[in-house]
Amino acid sequence: MAGGFAKDGAVQDQIDATIEDAISRARGRLPRGESLECCEECDKRIPEARRKAVPGVRLCIACQEQHDKEAATFSGYNRRGSKDSQLR
Ligand SMILES: [Zn+2]
Repeated sequence: MAGGFAKDGAVQDQIDATIEDAISRARGRLPRGESLECCEECDKRIPEARRKAVPGVRLCIACQEQHDKEAATFSGYNRRGSKDSQLR
């Protein structure tokens, strides 16, 4: 019985750790809270105006544009792909 109890405790610890991990990861992704003074990617200073305009901003304008471009390229590729299959 004692062994079973210890096992349950270990599983609960694991669940707690997983939940905490998920929460901290979700927090890191949410665009809110404190804005970073320096860009997360290139360490360049983020302009004060941008930090006020975008709460919780983590990237400088250049890096943000790069991210947006990559996202646009990816979704554009998907759109082209589905259009091609519709034409055929
Ligand atoms: Zn940057």
